[in-house]
Amino acid sequence: MTASEIRALFAVASRPEVVSLAGGMPYLAALPLDSLARDVHDLIAEQGQVALQYGSAQGIEALREQICEVMRLEGIQGHPDDIVCTVGSQSGLDLVTRVFCDPGDVILAESPSYVGALGTFASFQTEVVHVGMDDQGLQPEALRQAISAVRQQGKRIKFLYTIPNFQNPGGVTLAVSRRAEILEICRGADIMVLEDNPYGLLGFDGQAYPALRSMDADNVVYLGSFSKTFAPGLRVGWALAPHGVREKLTLAAESATLCPPAFNQMIISRYLAEHDWMGQIKTYRECYRERRDAMLSALDELMPAGCTWTRPDGGFYVWLTVPEGMDTKAMLPRAVTARVAFVPGTAFYGSPLGGEERHRQMRLSFCYPTPDRIREGVHRLSGVFEAELDLMQTFGTGGRSNTGGPQSPSPDLA
Ligand code: PMP
Repeated sequence: MTASEIRALFAVASRPEVVSLAGGMPYLAALPLDSLARDVHDLIAEQGQVALQYGSAQGIEALREQICEVMRLEGIQGHPDDIVCTVGSQSGLDLVTRVFCDPGDVILAESPSYVGALGTFASFQTEVVHVGMDDQGLQPEALRQAISAVRQQGKRIKFLYTIPNFQNPGGVTLAVSRRAEILEICRGADIMVLEDNPYGLLGFDGQAYPALRSMDADNVVYLGSFSKTFAPGLRVGWALAPHGVREKLTLAAESATLCPPAFNQMIISRYLAEHDWMGQIKTYRECYRERRDAMLSALDELMPAGCTWTRPDGGFYVWLTVPEGMDTKAMLPRAVTARVAFVPGTAFYGSPLGGEERHRQMRLSFCYPTPDRIREGVHRLSGVFEAELDLMQTFGTGGRSNTGGPQSPSPDLA
């Protein structure tokens, strides 16, 4: 495990004068906090002795039944017995890797991929092989080639890790027309699929895509989370897995935490039973759509020629590529001095095999700052880019930092 080299910078970036386009923090001001406060009070008053007691390693049954309802929105027919509640989907990633992987095993992942998962995979000494994406998500042909290249080297592939919807950090979605093909390739090659789907219900047109798990119940382990659709502070997520895998995950969960917090699960269960949770998701979606629009229109207006970026239709992130010769990690201190923060592209690759373009990439998140702050942040960023381009014209090159690899997750990298 390695400490994030950019952690110290993010301590500065969290100052109020800095517009942080770095963190993936949900906009919790959109929650009905007063009525949630009453729920917390009532839960302690009415069921305190259960809520504050140890619970089962698998999670409370009432919540697991409600989770099945949530997953039905994405076409999943799951059974509560096949669900394990986890401490956020981050601990789901840890449990699955713990159960399946030995040091040296290969995990296939999108290029780029979620920094927190890469940190987990690295902590189990696995090797990540990145598979190319385009604006339709993971490329089936690149997946075929990666599988045969890894196997030619005599290495063992344990699973494909994928974030099919509104990917973190890429902001792209796996086309529905590609989903069956990706699943078929993995089934044919005897490779399990680990589907990580915290953003699936945050599509801006209100449409949920069919989950990979809805198309293949036997070969997909599905990870869900209440972090983005409700609140990350409660740390409640879940894994839905074929029965034999579910048993192993429960054993692993027992040794990791004994049980996920009963109190937090019961708060969420009450929230799902008594609040208009679908209405809340709609509120979040509308809030994030407005912020996405603010970011895209500011980028359209202000970015210098040669920059390109994705146009997400859900989730939290835009993935931006700067012109040849510029280096986003080297630029970050200058950006923070100009009071704007982002996450450099190198954080989202598990190995230097991410390709040279990783130095020219960055993740911008639009979930937390208001639309006005987003516009201001993009304005400041464009100033940093212009200054960098001027320097390059004068001296022929931008600053290149030579470090890369996964950062350990911190709230700024979520
Ligand atoms: N997976 C992805 C793709 C994420 O973006 C995140 C949070 N940023 C997580 C997993 C972890 O979420 P949590 O542990 O809060 O459920």
